[in-house]
Amino acid sequence: MTHACPYTVTVGAYVLGVLGERENTEFRRHAAGCPHCQQEITELTPAVRFLEKLKSEMHAANGNAP
Ligand SMILES: [Zn+2]
Repeated sequence: MTHACPYTVTVGAYVLGVLGERENTEFRRHAAGCPHCQQEITELTPAVRFLEKLKSEMHAANGNAP
């Protein structure tokens, strides 16, 4: 994994949905034209989906609706 683009550090936060609205818009605009970030998003998204599914299953197992 290379960090050819300084924005790649933002990808994790973006995929997790923890960016602010302005940062989110700014990053999306950048990523639309950046193959490095697009690749990072493609790589990270399945992992985040998996963790979210796991989290909701754990909540359900604990009797807490998500
Ligand atoms: Zn980029």
